[in-house]
Amino acid sequence: MDGALKENDISHVVEADKAHVWHHLTQHKPFETVDPRIIVEGKGMRVWDQNGKEYIDAVSGGVWTVNVGYGRESIADVVRDQLVTLNYFAGSAGSIPGAMFSEKLISKMPGMTRVYITNSGSEANEKAFKMVRQIAHKRYGGKKTKILYRDRDYHGSTLAAMSAGGQDERNMQYGPFAPDFVRVPHCMEYRKDEIGLGHVSGAEFGRAAADLIEDVILREGPDTVGALCLEPITAGGGVIEPPEGYWDRVREICDKYDILLHIDEVVCGLGRTGTWFGYQHYGIQPDFVTMAKGVASGYAAIACCVTTEKVFEMFKDNSDDVLNHFRDISTFGGCTAGPAAALENMRIIEDEGLLENTTKMGERMLGNLKALMDKHAVIGDVRGKGLFLGAELVKDRETKEPVSEKDIAAVVADCGAQGVIIGASNRSIPGRNNVLCFSPALIVTAEDVDRITDAVDNALAKVFG
Ligand code: PMP
Repeated sequence: MDGALKENDISHVVEADKAHVWHHLTQHKPFETVDPRIIVEGKGMRVWDQNGKEYIDAVSGGVWTVNVGYGRESIADVVRDQLVTLNYFAGSAGSIPGAMFSEKLISKMPGMTRVYITNSGSEANEKAFKMVRQIAHKRYGGKKTKILYRDRDYHGSTLAAMSAGGQDERNMQYGPFAPDFVRVPHCMEYRKDEIGLGHVSGAEFGRAAADLIEDVILREGPDTVGALCLEPITAGGGVIEPPEGYWDRVREICDKYDILLHIDEVVCGLGRTGTWFGYQHYGIQPDFVTMAKGVASGYAAIACCVTTEKVFEMFKDNSDDVLNHFRDISTFGGCTAGPAAALENMRIIEDEGLLENTTKMGERMLGNLKALMDKHAVIGDVRGKGLFLGAELVKDRETKEPVSEKDIAAVVADCGAQGVIIGASNRSIPGRNNVLCFSPALIVTAEDVDRITDAVDNALAKVFG
């Protein structure tokens, strides 16, 4: 590593971090005796910590973000050029990178036309929620304000986004939440007993799982439901790919009851699953698509809420009515570094054939993980699409009882000690976070895929014998 810190600098950084930084998703007590890991440099698939230890990053920056890998000089160059030309202007004015990026993005999203730029995935989702609520007031006399969300899905950390949060452990102690967010059952085939569908399988299961959404709509009253918000493939809730037949039926149900379909592509967007967007595997047409992490691969903070012309038009009628536009702003939605980085990020994905690489390397990784099932009875299920994969660990394949969080943490730590950073599912249901998560950058090579899965093989042998 070129940028290794001198010993004195390192200890100063570590002390400053321990004294003043409040880390995300972290219990700080252990830092009284152990130093936090500080990542100081990244290049391609690799990062280095404060001690110069090298890691293969199998989770793209911890949370599925750095899709094009670290150290991209071309992104740094376009951002620098843009910053010295114009760093910022907000409100109703446009910008050159905002227009050019929006045009490029829309070219990959048939049926969608409008891009609303903001800062984070949570905010992008809140923008969609606000649009749905405003449409309910404008068009339906204040009815249709309800927003349905799914068990195990996650849509962000702000209070309204948490109100649409299907991961109970994340929400505990933060209530009360916003009204009119209503939960629908998950669609996870591996745990279909939980949703009362243990007796069905294949496409029949997919349709039956979607029908559970219709049951909720009928219970709530279709004239009260404005939107259904779903992840295309559930991420932190356990890497859950919807079953065959599910999405078609979901769209059908939304059309039947005049419900807007909001797909949260914060994780899957921009190539993660081998298509530009996760929903494009299923041939469905959403009304809202939100995205964040891979939009600029973490080189700038940018997120988007993308809609159709039909939705956009609803905010244009009665133009002299002062209430009749989307009365919303994100201060930093006016930062030009975001769309400039995002445009270059898309160029890289396209020019380097990263969608194709994602499909190819994803298949290899899935194959490797499936092969590990023969060796390790603790792997109950392996699933996912492209470079968005999970391995669910269970004490017993029959009962599917999850392994302990301590054991999951031990596997993650052992991989770390071997120089491979992997992830685990979020705290969704207390004691039920038993899925190892893999989401390397879309540039990953066959050699690195094999190194990642070899590390998992070793760690499982060590922790479970
Ligand atoms: N939606 C999904 C599916 C996510 O995984 C996340 C973040 N993990 C969010 C929304 C929220 O994004 P952010 O943290 O940028 O607010």
